[in-house]
Amino acid sequence: MRAEVHQVADGTYLVHGHHVNWVILKDGDALTLVDTGYPGDREGLLASLAQVGGSPEAVAAVLITHAHNDHLGSAEYLRARHGTPVYLHPAEVPHARRDFLQQATIGDVLRNAWRPGVVPWARHVIQVGGTRHNPVTAPEPFPGFPGEGPLEVPGRPVPVHTPGHTDGHCVYHLPSAGIVISGDALVSGHATSRIQGPQILHGFFHHERDRVVASLDVIGALDGDTLLPGHGPVHRGPVRAAAEQARERAS
Ligand SMILES: [Zn+2]
Ligand SMILES: [Zn+2]
Repeated sequence: MRAEVHQVADGTYLVHGHHVNWVILKDGDALTLVDTGYPGDREGLLASLAQVGGSPEAVAAVLITHAHNDHLGSAEYLRARHGTPVYLHPAEVPHARRDFLQQATIGDVLRNAWRPGVVPWARHVIQVGGTRHNPVTAPEPFPGFPGEGPLEVPGRPVPVHTPGHTDGHCVYHLPSAGIVISGDALVSGHATSRIQGPQILHGFFHHERDRVVASLDVIGALDGDTLLPGHGPVHRGPVRAAAEQARERAS
């Protein structure tokens, strides 16, 4: 499947792969990639870079929201092949190395197989390498951490720690564009969800669901009117209202 590239702002692109999104930030010829899809999304990922006039060599940094396989898919490929640094929150670095795994198990999925959409989704996950052992061998904490403010990479995103889905989950804020790249802390749809619009994923996807709900307050405090989630379409509207709606639906 080809990846579907949507330009959402100047130099900002949301890309839909196989049931998961990634974001390309472009500054001149240099790119930052936020998340990398499933391992099986590689072809689509490379095509999306070409579609915005880039290439894997032009990717100055890979930022990861969290180290689940649907976001980490080609991070090691880019690091090993092109020397691209792969940055995460310090708490997420050992997760990316697979020192431990905070991901729904086969048992979790089976217990939730009665939910609409879960069985076809799980079949798909296996096809695109979602259950593969796919660590990053040398992930790095954000440079300069715990400094406040933007990372010195193309697009100058500001990482914001939003733990719960995993310990080191981060969203990335683009303050001047009013954009929040929200990963799996706040989504607008999912193959296993029957509702559309701002929401959190089913409980079995989260390491600590209570902290996911608490992190919605952190996201809601960010100034913005465009949400680029890890799953689902772009959501336009105040980020504060999106976070509130997800919180109401979660309770
Ligand atoms: Zn996830
Ligand atoms: Zn995900």
